[in-house]
Amino acid sequence: MIIVKTASEIQALSGAWKKEGPVALVPTMGALHEGHLSLVRRAKQLAPRCIVSIFVNPLQFAPHEDFDKYPRAFENDLAMLKPVGVDAVFHPVASEFYPADFSTRVTVSSLNDYLCGKSRPHFFHGVATVCLKLFQSSLCDLAVFGEKDFQQMRILEKMVEDFNLPMRIVGHPIVREADGLAMSSRNQYLSTADRAMARAIPEVIFTARAKAQGEKTVGDLLTPARESLARAGLVIDYVEIASEKDLRPRTDAEFIGGIEQPHLFVAVKASATRLIDNVALGNESK
Ligand code: AMP
Repeated sequence: MIIVKTASEIQALSGAWKKEGPVALVPTMGALHEGHLSLVRRAKQLAPRCIVSIFVNPLQFAPHEDFDKYPRAFENDLAMLKPVGVDAVFHPVASEFYPADFSTRVTVSSLNDYLCGKSRPHFFHGVATVCLKLFQSSLCDLAVFGEKDFQQMRILEKMVEDFNLPMRIVGHPIVREADGLAMSSRNQYLSTADRAMARAIPEVIFTARAKAQGEKTVGDLLTPARESLARAGLVIDYVEIASEKDLRPRTDAEFIGGIEQPHLFVAVKASATRLIDNVALGNESK
């Protein structure tokens, strides 16, 4: 497993590998867990060469957010990746990756207007910008993303389409803890009490999925979902149902049956920790 710090080095390495077959990239911010490893295993099934990037991207954090505090565990990450058989870890240094005169930002409009894009207006510009740079640095033929960050995955699919990038985005299902909580590097911030509250998130989304039928309205599902999350002690950022196609939250009166590929999205805070989750409500998910 080769560790590479500069974009030019990873480009040279990948350029040589691409002569033999496709190269897969799994972008991460490190503090790896089983969810990340499942993405890496998927990437390895899809391509003979696999690069994992580990970079806590300053562009996607607002000044008041947890950039400094975000968990960093590079040595442990390497120890987790080695047995999986990753070919290279790309671990750029922020000052080299974004030199002082770095001037370009990528904005994917429309899909950015809702859900996390509304709550964190800076966020997806930072994500799209770093991903375009990671895709171009790694010369990847495909990049694997978790459906845990469903909006992120959709935004990146749009960027790839709009810019005719010669690669594809592959989505991978959410990996959960035994009690259903979606794995996340931020789960380690949770106190015992927060962790107990967080259990309500998967309970609520799977209850909504079980109840979702065409003749139910959005409100039929969202009202009890919001009540249960609040009763558990979680502070709601948003709880919405949208089509996977456009991510635009639907009004309470709309019928689930009238929404193409309906999908439930949740963002809450357990004390200071923001947690997101989502589930497909229709039969066909992306
Ligand atoms: P992060 O390090 O949090 O930026 O995540 C890197 C990648 O791992 C993203 O594509 C995430 O969607 C994905 N990911 C994070 N947590 C999970 C999970 N529990 N299940 C599946 N993918 C995940």
